[in-house]
Amino acid sequence: MRFSDETLLDIMKRFRMELGNGLGQDTNPTATVKMLPTFVRSIPDGSEKGDFIALDLGGSAFRILRVKVSHEKKQTVQMESQVYDTPEDIIHGSGTQLFDHVAECLGDFMEKQNIKDKKLPVGFTFSFPCAQTKLNESFLLNWTKRFKASGVEGLDVVALLNKAIKKRGDYDADIMAVVNDTVGTMMTCGFDDQRCEVGIIIGTGTNACYMEELRHIDLVEGDEGRMCINTEWGAFGDNGMLEDIRTEFDREIDRGSLNPGKQLFEKMVSGMYMGELVRLILVKMAKEEFLFEGRITPELLTKGTFETKHVSAIEKSKEGLTKAKEILGRLGVEPSADDCIAVQHVCTIVSHRSANLIAATLGGILSRLKDNKGNPRLRTTVGIDGSLYKMHPQYARRLHKTVRRLVPESDVRFLLSESGSSKGAAMVTAVAYRLADQRRQ
Ligand code: BGC
Ligand code: MG
Repeated sequence: MRFSDETLLDIMKRFRMELGNGLGQDTNPTATVKMLPTFVRSIPDGSEKGDFIALDLGGSAFRILRVKVSHEKKQTVQMESQVYDTPEDIIHGSGTQLFDHVAECLGDFMEKQNIKDKKLPVGFTFSFPCAQTKLNESFLLNWTKRFKASGVEGLDVVALLNKAIKKRGDYDADIMAVVNDTVGTMMTCGFDDQRCEVGIIIGTGTNACYMEELRHIDLVEGDEGRMCINTEWGAFGDNGMLEDIRTEFDREIDRGSLNPGKQLFEKMVSGMYMGELVRLILVKMAKEEFLFEGRITPELLTKGTFETKHVSAIEKSKEGLTKAKEILGRLGVEPSADDCIAVQHVCTIVSHRSANLIAATLGGILSRLKDNKGNPRLRTTVGIDGSLYKMHPQYARRLHKTVRRLVPESDVRFLLSESGSSKGAAMVTAVAYRLADQRRQ
């Protein structure tokens, strides 16, 4: 699980090849990294204003926000938000149930905001791979992460949500844009930093988007300007490209997942799987009597008992070992002081591997951006959101360091985008609204 820079550079090269395959006319149909056009052509220009609603479904929480963009002297964004439950029986039930639930929560939110009689423009952050033909039409390709509602794959999620809202009949909504969470993140950062041209999520799942030259996007007509591409890098490796670095633990995670054989890169790095990866390693070590004097408890053997937030807690520099004792104690394995140190070490190896692999794929995007611009040096900003990146004590620093080492000819600014993924849907909507407004005038 520990890679030399040489290996990381090699992975970066492989990923760059996959980027090219996803963009090309002939290679796209069979490409694993799908490189989906988003129909987002520019970051906010600062003149947007209005009152918007944003839905954010598919990250670690389902959130609804009201975002007010105003500008007196300077553009300001004001927002209020509420988190809603997405119970297991709903995300694994029928698509109708899922969208009825979303429509019900939206109704509740509008009620509480006292805006049920208004028809505010809605932006929808939907954090799954979607084929788009325009901003407000988005066909789900396949579910990832924890979601698996039936009868949604292949359909337009805007139509499904509109149908659910109509059926209720108690309010109206105008869904103007569907965006991936990476795109939302990039747009939110773009609001503060005009140089932002990459958006990354490192949370429950992982993915990235960036601004590509239209002349390189075979699937979209036109050669002028740029368009944001949702890479869907979580699928990197689904064609066997990463077999040499996948371990027995990665294979076991995949076998026990909702989507075997899919999102193999995501399963090696993201928050939904990291705790479980550590648990599998601990089980093996305990079985071989390297840990806990060979004590194996039913809790230790239960899937999901060791979570990614535990990895983050155990890697804290001061209280990490105390946390380890507490967390392992709850699994009933009665850890010794040495056990705690060893487990901390395992956590570090797994989370460091994640940061390294993301550095390699991000490096691939950055080197491509640099070549696109034809400059010897790349100066750019990367917007990042996601629970793992935000909560883990060491992750961000390790990622930044490795990226700078892998792409030395770049000056990269990393910008944490607080609730960027959801706010961004409102930003995209605001831009669409401004453009529609200009056309009306
Ligand atoms: C999805 C992406 C999403 C990422 C982060 C992945 O599982 O395929 O669309 O951006 O998770 O939420
Ligand atoms: Mg999110």
